[in-house]
Amino acid sequence: MRFESPILFCFCAPAGSGKSTVCRRLAEEDRALMRSISTTTREPRDGEIDGVHYHFVSLEEFNARVEQGLFIEHATFGGNQYGTERRNVDDAAAAGKDLLLAIDVQGVQSLKNLHPKQVVCVFLFPPSFEVLAKRLEERGTEDLEVRKRRLRIARDEIETLCAPGFSDYLLINDELDQAVKDAHSVLSVERMRFERLSAGRLKSIFSSAKVKAEGAK
Ligand code: 5GP
Repeated sequence: MRFESPILFCFCAPAGSGKSTVCRRLAEEDRALMRSISTTTREPRDGEIDGVHYHFVSLEEFNARVEQGLFIEHATFGGNQYGTERRNVDDAAAAGKDLLLAIDVQGVQSLKNLHPKQVVCVFLFPPSFEVLAKRLEERGTEDLEVRKRRLRIARDEIETLCAPGFSDYLLINDELDQAVKDAHSVLSVERMRFERLSAGRLKSIFSSAKVKAEGAK
């Protein structure tokens, strides 16, 4: 028997931190994890596939889905709309898996308001701000102005992510394999938290001890 609700593992990181790679590896390697596929109005980048990396929709379609109440959170980032549709959580729950979300700080805040006990916020960051700037430069996909704008956004994101009580874990992405290993550790430890265990699960372990063990409702 598994925990009753999926844990919402939210990975949050400024552009250039390596979030996509770490999340891809995690989803491939952890079979109890389902990747949330966000819906966005931004244009697909080279190599991005509709329904795999994102659900790419028009602004009209996005707004219609907002009207229909399909999102559990949505936000504007860099002039585009992004949102998590409820079906991601429902599918994970139905499959008995936890959900992996790569979303921005606004999305994490909305989910925390909605499901405070289910959200685990993992802040992923390079060893320093200088390394972040260097990685963005080496990536070579953005020109100087765009890079400057991204670093400005990064500063705001860092401020939120460092605010008391916002992030649950800080994961330093210096060497990729180690960062992925550390991320697996976070997932393991969170799944062992006593408060996440259902009453049924506790009963199945401890019933013969004839003690009253309290589990999550
Ligand atoms: P990108 O366009 O680079 O893929 O994503 C831009 C930002 O939007 C990233 O910080 C990414 O994590 C965030 N993002 C992606 N999907 C969602 C979502 O469903 N909700 C929210 N709030 N942010 C998202």
